[in-house]
Amino acid sequence: MVFTSNRHGSTTSSPSMTSSIMTTPLLSQAIISSSSSAVSPAQTPSNKLPADPDPASFAKDNFVVNAFQIAMLCILAVFFLATIPRAFGRFSVGSEWGKGLILRSRSSAHVRRRPSQGRQTSLKRTHHKEAPNPDERVVPRRHDRSKPTNPSSNVSRPPYIRSWSTRSYPISVYFAQSFLPGVSYGLAFIVIVYLSGITSVIFTSANIFTDLGRPGFLSVAQIPVAVALAMKNNIIGVLLGVGYVKLNTLHQWAGFVVVVAAHLHGVPWFYRYANAGVLQQEVRRPLNAWGIVALVGLDVLWLVSTPVIRQRAYRLFYPGHILGFVVLLVSVCFHIPVAIRYVVLGAAAYALDHIIRLLKTRLCTAIVRPIRELSLTRIEIPMVTHGWRAGQHVRLRVLSTELGKLGWLEAHPFTIASASDSESGEGMVLMCKRLGGWTGKLYDAASRAVYYGSEDGYGHRKMKILVEGPYGGLGHMLLHSYTGALIVAGGSGISFSLCVLEDLTQKVISGAATTQFIDFVWAVQDKSSLIPLLSTFKSLLRCRGSAPGLSLNISVFYTRVPNSQDPATADALRDLPSGLSINTGRPKFSKFLNAIILKAKSLQVSHGIALAVCGPVGIVDEVRLVGRDVFGPERAAVGGIDVHEEVFAW
Ligand SMILES: Cc1cc2nc3c(=O)[nH]c(=O)nc-3n(C[C@H](O)[C@H](O)[C@H](O)COP(=O)(O)OP(=O)(O)OC[C@H]3O[C@@H](n4cnc5c(N)ncnc54)[C@H](O)[C@@H]3O)c2cc1C
Repeated sequence: MVFTSNRHGSTTSSPSMTSSIMTTPLLSQAIISSSSSAVSPAQTPSNKLPADPDPASFAKDNFVVNAFQIAMLCILAVFFLATIPRAFGRFSVGSEWGKGLILRSRSSAHVRRRPSQGRQTSLKRTHHKEAPNPDERVVPRRHDRSKPTNPSSNVSRPPYIRSWSTRSYPISVYFAQSFLPGVSYGLAFIVIVYLSGITSVIFTSANIFTDLGRPGFLSVAQIPVAVALAMKNNIIGVLLGVGYVKLNTLHQWAGFVVVVAAHLHGVPWFYRYANAGVLQQEVRRPLNAWGIVALVGLDVLWLVSTPVIRQRAYRLFYPGHILGFVVLLVSVCFHIPVAIRYVVLGAAAYALDHIIRLLKTRLCTAIVRPIRELSLTRIEIPMVTHGWRAGQHVRLRVLSTELGKLGWLEAHPFTIASASDSESGEGMVLMCKRLGGWTGKLYDAASRAVYYGSEDGYGHRKMKILVEGPYGGLGHMLLHSYTGALIVAGGSGISFSLCVLEDLTQKVISGAATTQFIDFVWAVQDKSSLIPLLSTFKSLLRCRGSAPGLSLNISVFYTRVPNSQDPATADALRDLPSGLSINTGRPKFSKFLNAIILKAKSLQVSHGIALAVCGPVGIVDEVRLVGRDVFGPERAAVGGIDVHEEVFAW
């Protein structure tokens, strides 16, 4: 009994085999029909493969799959064209060029010292162990922003370019709507279009039961697509003006297609072999053996990528993902030579990404301190002073075994919490919420400085770190080109929102922004969370003095009502400056947005309102909904409403 295949999945059968396969009528009929167009048994020794793939079938698969890839590129080009006006607006501002690509340092002579620095030095001498005023201890006071940084400079303001979602209103509103937490109709539409294309590739002039080469071909052709969508530095993101985190969902779907198509190709072969009673011989053949290895690699890759493992055991997900990926790439090349070109493409993209990552990595000494009220670790990197855009994040490695034997190998993403070119002298600031193993150990390591005393009594310590980035951010959206901005943070989303707020106020002061109304809303559990950031908020509010037209309000909402009033918290939160309010309960975002709309409508010309939100999926969805629900005429009257959302997950 003989059953052979050519390398491209066409079927060749001997007469003796055919009779045994007749036990499964549909499949056998399909096989018989396909075998008539394949290499004849007479030409092929029963235990050997044909020397070459069936050229006709190969050419057909090649054509259909490549036509699909070209169609996808065309869709990408349409999206790219839609982003051009905003990209043009962004790059028409000279200062935007080269920003957000690489982290930079300014020599220490250029870095202004923060006001509290002198006092810290004196404390250093006396080995003062008690922290002073809590708000000064945990978050050193920033440079006084009330002084215009460059009042005489002739700073150019960015043009306001309406986003494609504003232009395509009201259709865009439906696309922005979520039907599951974090899943919008827009995203679902893109995925459906992609999967429809994939389905049509499988079925276009092919029979899923007989033309097993088609899904196999499709599977390998999607490898570079999946890789390109996963890269931290990827061309698709550059073209569309979005970060890799936003593309990750599409990466997951492309990966899903690779897995499903590979199984549609591979599993039926085993079924056929088993039916023909030749499974044992067949799995020993190199072609099939490599195919099995590729499938196993792919299954490992898929299994460790399931949301449960990815979210609960990242340390299993990451190495498993890489291992499965490497096994897949190598074995699929031995399985079918036509895969080599796709594997080379995928591997080249992967290698290039890693080279760029290396170039974007800096070895620095960081000042690390715990912030108890927020249950997070604050990291200052004085050496890195500029080069990022507000809303971007970096990947952090801490070179210490205190974070576990292999903890120094782990790279964790954290949004930059300070504005680029800030005059505080702190450089880059990160806020790392104590969440799981790694961030917990980081917090513990930082806390040791407090327990054992630090050099200057402020409870900080120095650690060697590798910081890689910057990545992501607001893309072509220029917050300072809008008339109004509602910036929302939920919990540790404050790092994103604070940086965005600081950057925006900095631009307002320097005259580089058209923004006149800013409302900042932070939803936290505990009232005491405000204490560490009080001095920062006060300093930001003081900037109104040098930007007379600016209306800036900061509202903090806390949901956990304390059993008894903590005197220290009450003390610290006494005498709040005007513009800063503390409230109980959940914020009503629509109220804040309506207030900005009213103010914007009172102007002769309004250049739109931007909503920037970062936090848990619930808050992000709520803010998106609030932006969506603004009635058409209101929306038009203020020049459009755009939402940028950021969630700390994928
Ligand atoms: C773009 C982005 C920006 C972020 N910015 C901030 C920030 O400014 N402040 C902040 O406190 N948190 C931020 N996070 C979340 C932060 O990266 C995770 O909380 C942290 O990596 C958790 O590590 P862990 O081992 O302590 O927790 P775990 O309990 O192991 O994991 C908790 C969650 O974090 C994810 N995670 C774990 N390790 C990694 C990793 N190496 N890379 C990516 N995700 C991982 C897991 O999938 C899980 O969902 C951000 C996340 C992303 C994706």
